[in-house]
Amino acid sequence: MKWDREADIVVIGSGATGLPAAVVAREAGASVILVEAEEDIGGHAIISGGNIPLGGGTSVQKKYGIEDSPDLLFRDLTDWSVVGPNGFPDYRYNDREIIRAFADNSALTFEWLVAHGVVFVDKAPDALGRNSLGNSVPREMHSAVMDWPMAYTGEPAEPAVQRTRSSGNGLMRSLEVAAKKAGVEILLEHRMTRIYRQAQNSGPVLGIAVDYKDIRLNIRGHKAVIIGTGGSTGNVNFRRMFDPRLTEEYCGLAGMPWSDQDASGELAAMAIGASLWGFYNQTGEFGSNVTKPGSNGCQYNYRHLQWMPGSPVFDRARATGLRVANWQDLILVNMLGKRFYDETGGQYIANNYNSLDPYIQGSWLNAKNLEWNPNNFLNAALAGIDDGHNGGGPIWAIFDSDAVAREEWVPTPPYVDIAAGFFFGANRLADLAEKIVMKYQRVPMPPASLEEIVARHNSFVDSGVDEDFGKPSPMYKIGNPPFYAAWATPVVHDIRARLRINAKCQVIDMSGEVIPGLYFGGEAAGGFSQHGLARAACQGYIAGNAVSTA
Ligand SMILES: Cc1cc2nc3c(=O)[nH]c(=O)nc-3n(C[C@H](O)[C@H](O)[C@H](O)COP(=O)(O)OP(=O)(O)OC[C@H]3O[C@@H](n4cnc5c(N)ncnc54)[C@H](O)[C@@H]3O)c2cc1C
Repeated sequence: MKWDREADIVVIGSGATGLPAAVVAREAGASVILVEAEEDIGGHAIISGGNIPLGGGTSVQKKYGIEDSPDLLFRDLTDWSVVGPNGFPDYRYNDREIIRAFADNSALTFEWLVAHGVVFVDKAPDALGRNSLGNSVPREMHSAVMDWPMAYTGEPAEPAVQRTRSSGNGLMRSLEVAAKKAGVEILLEHRMTRIYRQAQNSGPVLGIAVDYKDIRLNIRGHKAVIIGTGGSTGNVNFRRMFDPRLTEEYCGLAGMPWSDQDASGELAAMAIGASLWGFYNQTGEFGSNVTKPGSNGCQYNYRHLQWMPGSPVFDRARATGLRVANWQDLILVNMLGKRFYDETGGQYIANNYNSLDPYIQGSWLNAKNLEWNPNNFLNAALAGIDDGHNGGGPIWAIFDSDAVAREEWVPTPPYVDIAAGFFFGANRLADLAEKIVMKYQRVPMPPASLEEIVARHNSFVDSGVDEDFGKPSPMYKIGNPPFYAAWATPVVHDIRARLRINAKCQVIDMSGEVIPGLYFGGEAAGGFSQHGLARAACQGYIAGNAVSTA
């Protein structure tokens, strides 16, 4: 084996898992090389909302008189009795070993972040980000955006809000500073393509292969390789192992185009024997694994992220999208021009502090006291058109110029993406239907069908009753040209199940054995039903410590 570079520890990915892992390992005395596929650090974490539910007795919880402990956190996140309003249990299938490690290291991770320059908004913990943080006490804290340029605007936030606005920007730029100060070597545009192990299914992990501008390099990790590559939302075949409905048209991935989630970490680890784990947490109908879009008329339409022309990746994002203030302003139709659900319907939700009131840990009454509300907007959108295909196909928001005026939209670039086929306009509804030609619209939209559905919807506005889908008091007719069709297809966002790890974040193989020298953490680690940053940062912290003491 010829090695081009060497270090004690090689970390893959500079997101919420990778940077903490690298800094912890470096500060413990190891030499660390971190490879990052993109041109800049941060992964999904840098464009995240910065809502971080780290609890178990943090200094901030104590400051505000909130009594929490690792045991309370553990019991919350493994409570079998907690179900959402659609009956899905949020925590029942969590791996006890993984949750115990999180509960024991949660507060430690928070204090470590603070000690490494992360500024949190100075207020009491809450549950605003809805991350599945357990029911007993508020645990969510918010990293401040600070004065670095933001990934989605290219500009710093206004000085007045830099310490009060929650964003992953401040979290990740602070960690980048800490990594550079500690002496972590960060190699940007180095994409890991393979993990080397002594033999394919036995022996220790030796290092990785990376591609850098058409050059293949081998990097030796003498003690360990830590994978922090995020999830697999961008790999259609991989994500469909968990949900066959998630076909190609779900291309509006949250976090793209800043960084991809192409399952490269999972695939490289599986190629040397790693096992997958905890599939239920991926397909259970809670949280933000799949979301309703927040903007229409652009490819990347995640509800909490709008790309702006100043962003360094705007050439790939192409449009900001039209943010929807009132879903009564439009109707949503499938490829055949047919409505499928009440447009004001919501997506799945997650259990959090105060979601259940009263909440009694481990009590059968928790489910009994809940108000049943199935929340099936997404299931209807993903159901398809009864033509034998998987996936729901494109969903289009149909509206008229009155809606444009009410919402104060500007239906031209850079707000909408006409060139790539995510937005169409016409003076007649029939013409609009005929114009909808794009990559994912695999059947033409019948013009008569769109006309009929709009006329029927308008009659519901007259009668005040949506006879088809029960939308409460339909408010606005669609009648004043021009008419528009804007991409409003659901978004694939979150990964909650993938590789099997143990409490030390060591990767486990199909025989239940540790793969020596291989660690994994973050979004694609199995066994943990929680959205995002807290488990990623905590598992980075755990993995960094584990490789230092191995
Ligand atoms: C818009 C948005 C808002 C969010 N808001 C919140 C929030 O408020 N709270 C919360 O808890 N969570 C939030 N999340 C989720 C959270 O950001 C992620 O769950 C978290 O960042 C996952 O951490 P990670 O380290 O696993 O992956 P990431 O942070 O995505 O980092 C993975 C890194 O690995 C790199 N990489 C991937 N493959 C390779 C490869 N082969 N070689 C080299 N590098 C590679 C990627 O480029 C990336 O930089 C949000 C996500 C998005 C997209």
